[in-house]
Amino acid sequence: MSTILNGATYPPTLTEEETANLTVALRDWSLSLGLVIRAPAAAHPEDEASVHVPLTLHPSPFPKKLFDQARNLQTAFNELYAKVADDSKFLTEITKELAGVDDFMSDLWKLHLEVEEITQGVPTQALSLGLFRSDYLLHTTSTAEPSIRQVELNTISASFGGLSSRAADCHRFLQKSALYGSGPGSELLKDETMPVNPSARGLAKGLGVAHNAYGASEAIVLFVVQPGERNAFDQRWLEYYLLEDFGVVSVRASLEEVAEFGEMDPASKEFRYKDRHVAVVYYRAGYTPADYTTPATWEARKTMELSKAIKCPTLATHFAGAKKVQQVLVDELILAKFVPDNEVRGKLKSTFADILPLDDSELGKKARKLIETCPEKYVLKPQREGGGNNVYRDKIPGFLKDLKDETLWRGYILMELIEPPLDVRNLIIRAGKVNDGHVISELGIFGCVLWDSTTHEIKQNFEAGWLLRTKFADSEEGGVAAGFGSIDSVLLI
Ligand code: ADP
Ligand code: MG
Repeated sequence: MSTILNGATYPPTLTEEETANLTVALRDWSLSLGLVIRAPAAAHPEDEASVHVPLTLHPSPFPKKLFDQARNLQTAFNELYAKVADDSKFLTEITKELAGVDDFMSDLWKLHLEVEEITQGVPTQALSLGLFRSDYLLHTTSTAEPSIRQVELNTISASFGGLSSRAADCHRFLQKSALYGSGPGSELLKDETMPVNPSARGLAKGLGVAHNAYGASEAIVLFVVQPGERNAFDQRWLEYYLLEDFGVVSVRASLEEVAEFGEMDPASKEFRYKDRHVAVVYYRAGYTPADYTTPATWEARKTMELSKAIKCPTLATHFAGAKKVQQVLVDELILAKFVPDNEVRGKLKSTFADILPLDDSELGKKARKLIETCPEKYVLKPQREGGGNNVYRDKIPGFLKDLKDETLWRGYILMELIEPPLDVRNLIIRAGKVNDGHVISELGIFGCVLWDSTTHEIKQNFEAGWLLRTKFADSEEGGVAAGFGSIDSVLLI
């Protein structure tokens, strides 16, 4: 396995006292400057309690060349997923595969078709907004140089852009305060190798340009959120920058609240929440079936979709983020339909891992063979978001056998495991406690795209900063709120 550190000592060795000082400084900076998350509800039922977000003590190394590569790809991924979202016929074919095996995705698509029928194929609002995040792991083999492989592309509720900027600022503060010491490895920590991360302002800009394009200065951005959201402060940073940089006010509401207090004006098709005109609906909820607690919450999503408000994302864009879509796009011929330019397509494809369907096709048969012969090389994924849903390695065969019948297999995709370097160490500070070990970091690149879904014209398209999440190497998932991972920042090497 090739290394990315080339033998350098990292992170720098610290004395117990230095580690303790660094930890206190990190915690206090986080609590002072909003690098926080609500305390777990069980321990602190009162909403006021918040704790610093789980954070690495040092920034984790990431090769600069691969970091730049990922950033440079983002506008092409934005465009690809905008095109996929606009291709109703293509997505309808995909939903047929999921019919009867994944009720949630099927229901989303049914709702999309219902809206399409009501509007007779001419959406009330032609503009669509995407705030995406494309996630990558480093892939290493014994022979080749490390490369990046895409884990998934999120088209709804891509989180941590707010806190991610703070994490870079926090690590930069610790470095400037000379708290990383002067031992071997500390020389890697410099202003130039620890970039400022523009993700919070970048995502706010995405919402701001959509608001401008809507063209009603007094209108608000509606943040549709989960009740009791622990990660609310991450979202708050976008609200604050939206106000600071664009003078736009945002209001937060759950789907249930939208169901109760939201309405569409039948003549103008304007969406109003508690009598306030909504220019942009930004979903930080609605990506999991658990968010739809009543039929009225589905109805609320439908009303917003039918309205003149710009949706981030539309139902079609939400659906385009399905893992099944990611699997289908691995096929060069299908990808070529959306990305005709050979060079751009080659660049996107170079980041794809192998992903197979579990249907009756030839590829599906190949997947079944692979599950029998080498499950240890694969991860099985359902059409779900939010972490904790995947099945890994040797557990795959038993998991599939336990499903009621084989037709349900079609709801899953089989993805080759990416092999990140295993020689990187870091310390993770969670609830003030220090844990040390080998870590794996996942890089997410944020992208904003505003396009006309009727003419397919792209109005705005830009990369909007990044997220580095780091987990211990022995944990399979990287969810931060779920207790598996931590926020990090990049040390470019
Ligand atoms: P979710 O929608 O739940 O975030 P992901 O596809 O991002 O689903 O998978 C969750 C986590 O599982 C990732 O953050 C990563 O840590 C791990 N993972 C997913 N796919 C792979 C893969 N192909 N190789 C290695 N790890 C993976
Ligand atoms: Mg993910």
